[in-house]
Amino acid sequence: MASAVAAPVSGGKRQAPGGSREDGNRMVVTPLGAGNEVGRSCVHVSYRGRAVLFDCGVHPAYSGVAALPYFDEIDPAAVDVLLVTHFHLDHAAALPYFLEKTAFKGRVFMTHATKAIYQLLLLDYVRDRGHRLPPDRDVNGIRFWCYAAGHVLGAAMFMVDIAGARVLYTGDYSREEDRHLPAAETPQLSPDVCIIESTYGVQQHQPRDVRERRFTEMVHSTVAQGGRVLIPAYALGRAQELLLILDEYWSNHPELHSIPIYYASSLAKRCMAVYQTHISSMNENIRNKFGGQSNPFYFKHIESLNSIDSFHDVGPSVVMASPGGLQSGLSRQLFDRWCSDRKNACVIPGYIVAGTLAKTIINEPREVTLANGLTAPLNMQVHYISFSAHADFPQTSAFLDELRPPNIVLVHGEATEMSRLKQRLVSQFDGTNTNVVSPKNCQPVELRFRSEKTAKVVGRLAAENKVPDVGESVSGLLLTKGFTYQIVDPEELRVYTRAQLSSANITQRVTVPYSGSFDVIRYRLEQIYECVEESESDVPALVVHQRVRVSLDSESHVVTLQWSSDPISDMVSDSVVAVILSVGRDKGPKHVRSEEAVRRTKEEAQRMAEKVVHAFMVSLFGDVKVAEEGRLVISVDGDVAHLDGRSGDVECENAMLRQRIETAFRRIQGVVRPIPLSAF
Ligand SMILES: [Zn+2]
Ligand SMILES: [Zn+2]
Repeated sequence: MASAVAAPVSGGKRQAPGGSREDGNRMVVTPLGAGNEVGRSCVHVSYRGRAVLFDCGVHPAYSGVAALPYFDEIDPAAVDVLLVTHFHLDHAAALPYFLEKTAFKGRVFMTHATKAIYQLLLLDYVRDRGHRLPPDRDVNGIRFWCYAAGHVLGAAMFMVDIAGARVLYTGDYSREEDRHLPAAETPQLSPDVCIIESTYGVQQHQPRDVRERRFTEMVHSTVAQGGRVLIPAYALGRAQELLLILDEYWSNHPELHSIPIYYASSLAKRCMAVYQTHISSMNENIRNKFGGQSNPFYFKHIESLNSIDSFHDVGPSVVMASPGGLQSGLSRQLFDRWCSDRKNACVIPGYIVAGTLAKTIINEPREVTLANGLTAPLNMQVHYISFSAHADFPQTSAFLDELRPPNIVLVHGEATEMSRLKQRLVSQFDGTNTNVVSPKNCQPVELRFRSEKTAKVVGRLAAENKVPDVGESVSGLLLTKGFTYQIVDPEELRVYTRAQLSSANITQRVTVPYSGSFDVIRYRLEQIYECVEESESDVPALVVHQRVRVSLDSESHVVTLQWSSDPISDMVSDSVVAVILSVGRDKGPKHVRSEEAVRRTKEEAQRMAEKVVHAFMVSLFGDVKVAEEGRLVISVDGDVAHLDGRSGDVECENAMLRQRIETAFRRIQGVVRPIPLSAF
């Protein structure tokens, strides 16, 4: 489990989001779109040398390159995975550009339903590149899986796990079940970072039945008075929900059967086949109806309309047409034709993106500019009844309360709504160390993780070793695969690396010319290493630190070193060679020293060590007196400590001073004494 501290990086120079490669524990979350705006959702996350892009949409209020996310801020070639949450254009329509016009060579994932509809929406751009989403994936060590998000058919939230740090990206989601879709799932696992939509900010939706009643009553009264009803909507998504409502209402009101309802979208007609095949992704209401042989998407009272030319506009009617923002296309043509007649009505049924005509007419101006440039009075009734399946504040608040992510990154919301939501969340999670940020486009949010590494002991080692005690070491080979670690017995390497790797023991042997006495070598080695043992052999031989065997052939004047190669033994053998060469260069006696001489030298060394300890202690503590049997009396600011210069035991009432003296003694010993066996 990782924990994190986070802070938005504000002001100053922009940092490239891909820059995380130098700093292993830094995650950078950068909105390339949908930062303080609704439209062109695209969020870049980089961590531990991996990069994920969530969504790749266009901004409906802009056109051409201006509608794209800020791809220049990143290195598309470094993006490993692109995850598309749903088929709406503000989440998916920049995908063809990103695939065809950038250096991106990673993989794209989306749900089955999203892919099926997306192929129809944007031709076959993703046929080769988009992958249908299996339940749990691992790409380059990036693990990810998804949850149903409600919102529209096939919409998913993505949970991504990179080296133990989890990021949840909600995309657009709704926790309210409607006529055809289930509510969003709540992940079982809590993420470290939750990147969440904030479209409706702190607003609260009216209950669904109230909204439905307002909608159907308004449509009914308009057509009953001879008016026409225009419903501008995205071709897919909310349109299906509204059609279900209208079809049911018409069925219950025979007096309306003479009034046609048109659904003007040839694309949507094709996509209905997808709706009909993905019944399993919908809710029980739909599944039950479908199981009862009546396909709820075969509408009884709704006709399709291909273009304005084939439309006989002779009396009251209801027309649902795209696009939802009335920027262009059929919905705009009908709006221009109908807007000046006060009998008519326009229902805006979903979220309206800033910068579109739908946003303008919601404020009921007296005049509007038509597509041909002329102005006309706006007399038709304009109603805003939102059926858009985005979470409102109570849903967002409850969702985050269940998940309790330590970091919340707000995206997909207009600046004012988003900042209101941010304030409410900050006070909701006050005192819980929750970090709420609302970055602008291209403003990186930096998060630091202190992640713990865990390695699993597998194979023979796991069978042999009972659970090791704290501090006990387990020895084996450490294998890394992505961000997972395993410790295996070297013999089993082939098993755990699918025969790609195997291990071998290398025995090394080195000979060094030497004509002196073997005792001199022994003496020198004993000064450096604590463990120098005799080896049973016909010739003089030693084993240094249980690793390197040193033997002398006195006839050919050659010392032979032999060891099993590993980094530590190689290092020990290097030092042994250096000792032998330096002894060979010495001008001093190369004869056998008498036992007595060796003993005397050892005593000298001991006295020398005691002197060194004394001198160091004086330099560190000042007032140090020598007492009997190598004891030192150290006085510091009225505290007195007794140090046994041989054992290192310290007696002192001041615990802090005692600890300082013990540490100092240990360090001095490390310099003047031979290297202990335990050091390796
Ligand atoms: Zn959406
Ligand atoms: Zn959206």
